[in-house]
Amino acid sequence: MSNTSGMDRRRFLRNGAVGVGAFGVGMLGGGNLLHSQVEPQSQAGQEMNQALKIKEYRTLGRTEFKVSDISSGFVKDPAVLGKLLDAGINYIDSAESYGNEEVIGSVIKNRDRKKIFVTTKLELKDDLSKEGILARARKCLERLQTDYIDCLMIHSCEKVSLIKTEGFHAAMQQLKSEGRLRFIGISNHGTNFFKDPEEAMDKVLIAAALDGRFDVMLLAYNFIQDDKGAEVLKVCREKNIGTTLMKVNPIGKIPMIKERIEKMKKDGKEIPEAYTQMISRMEAKAKKAEAFIKEYRLDDDRRMSDAAVRFALSNPDVHTVCCAFLNFESLDAFIPLSGSRLAGMEKEKLAAYKEGCGSFYCRHACGLCEPVCPQGVPVNTIMRFNHYYEAQGKEKFAMKQYARLSAPKADRCRNCTGVCESACPYGVPVQGLLTMAHRTLSLA
Ligand code: SF4
Ligand code: SF4
Repeated sequence: MSNTSGMDRRRFLRNGAVGVGAFGVGMLGGGNLLHSQVEPQSQAGQEMNQALKIKEYRTLGRTEFKVSDISSGFVKDPAVLGKLLDAGINYIDSAESYGNEEVIGSVIKNRDRKKIFVTTKLELKDDLSKEGILARARKCLERLQTDYIDCLMIHSCEKVSLIKTEGFHAAMQQLKSEGRLRFIGISNHGTNFFKDPEEAMDKVLIAAALDGRFDVMLLAYNFIQDDKGAEVLKVCREKNIGTTLMKVNPIGKIPMIKERIEKMKKDGKEIPEAYTQMISRMEAKAKKAEAFIKEYRLDDDRRMSDAAVRFALSNPDVHTVCCAFLNFESLDAFIPLSGSRLAGMEKEKLAAYKEGCGSFYCRHACGLCEPVCPQGVPVNTIMRFNHYYEAQGKEKFAMKQYARLSAPKADRCRNCTGVCESACPYGVPVQGLLTMAHRTLSLA
């Protein structure tokens, strides 16, 4: 099967020789991942809740911490976090701006602290002096109710030059000398407004890796947007830097997009020609994508999403995948994926999805089209907020972020000629998606 390629593979998928039912669950059986440590598999017939146990731990680079391969990317309910820890998740991501440090603190204070790796992040804004950053970091410690933070990251570091912020490093050294911090990290999912290719995600993170002071990274990587992330992961391997992932699932809800198009068509009766054209472009793409989904049997959202996570887990340079655990159901969605790899037809299904539906995904950490927008709309940032809302279920957070955006918003896109769209190398019908995102994020 591994030899099926090109048209043969597509025909194989289309003919359904292996249908959705045989999509494949790639549990790891004696894999040879670098730095991995796999717990014995549960025996067949063991109780259901065995599935809700982490099955694999990987070494988080030079921190040498054995981190669960699935980890907590965002959690707001202390009861959910308690269950995550019971399941064996031991990496918790947070940030000053997430507003959930208190929740985390209320849970970890009752746990064996040294068995949990807690990360938080600070955006480099306003006061960049050592004192200013120290004061904010100490507030994180207070909210987290802990003696020490395992890793403190520069949040969403937008520029190569920020990597060397003196005040940040001086503050980190101070905290380390007090025993209040163990490691330093950095996160990036693109810039808030793309101006310079030299400030793209891969450039910033590779520069941080070469700087030598960063022990852990958080980056965007998935089966559609994989090239830049893969390069960063490779450098991290060479430098023995811990790698944590976000935004591993780029799968969109095409039927929902179609419904919204219908609504926009109704609402847009007396709207200018540009608006009608935008809707037609998006509708044509949605129809094509839908036909592709049908033809190649890609319509099982849950299995597609599982495969997307497995794509990330199958890369030996990835140490943990941060997932948003917004409710108890999300435990069932993500934890059983621990210890698994892409298997069966999953690889082909993902490739087919990328080919047929990839144009509905505005690539995280991209922003290539932004410089051509005459209005200065931060396309990629708005689409990222929309992703928080639509794909991660973080509605309030997404809306707050959008409300706080100081740049021009996507209400400007409605009556525009959509020059950004022609500048997108991936064919994303982004004018329409932005218009929908504005309606979603502002309840307009
Ligand atoms: S619309 Fe295209 S070019 Fe613009 S940010 Fe999204 S993926 Fe990049
Ligand atoms: S649709 Fe027009 S206003 Fe909106 S981002 Fe594109 S170019 Fe800018």
